[in-house]
Amino acid sequence: IFITFEGPDGAGKTSVLNEIITKLSARLGPKLVVTREPGGTQIAEAIRNVILDTQNTEMDARTEALLFAAARRQHIREIIQPALDENKFVFCDRFVDSSVAYQGAGRQIGADEVWQMNKFATEGLMPNLTLYFDVPSEVGLARIQNFRADEINRLDQASLSFHKRVREAYLNLQATYPQRIILIDAAQPFENVVADALEAIILRYPE
Ligand code: C5P
Ligand code: MG
Repeated sequence: IFITFEGPDGAGKTSVLNEIITKLSARLGPKLVVTREPGGTQIAEAIRNVILDTQNTEMDARTEALLFAAARRQHIREIIQPALDENKFVFCDRFVDSSVAYQGAGRQIGADEVWQMNKFATEGLMPNLTLYFDVPSEVGLARIQNFRADEINRLDQASLSFHKRVREAYLNLQATYPQRIILIDAAQPFENVVADALEAIILRYPE
């Protein structure tokens, strides 16, 4: 079972994911695999360094989208697909929806083209369940400015309009795929966000 965590910057999805893994590890034990792009694979890591390098100011949006897809491909081949083949529960921090939101809408390449290009990379592999952590752009931005001011990379965008396009794209994705994508209100207090996320997972996979 393939489960992804998605959301704009400052939604807190990574902290929620860590908390949920702690709570689920007793139940799932060795069947649990937690990963995030680039998944610690050597090739995907190298690609990601090119994407994040603050020196690469001239990087074109489509180049960025291709590089994300290339890193994703390698992550699938080395980590995700082998784990799924062993019937594990794979929890992944970000996947294709991030590219549709960030490169498609944020960088304005367009959702359809980003989908097409990612189909080549994923060969159609999609999550069984996606938790989308929704937060108003102003709230998300304020959170990252308070907590993440120290780890700035090329992708860290200060512009509110960029963040609004990203959130709008996520909301569109959720409305288009309501069976796969469950919206979690991430503006709530942390404990409530964790509880809602856990409930959504257990509701779908009660075993
Ligand atoms: O939220 P997370 O820490 O996973 O994101 C890392 C950075 O990569 C963020 O600045 C996010 O905006 C960016 N990102 C992106 N395009 C993607 C995935 C992440 O710009 N497809
Ligand atoms: Mg994060």
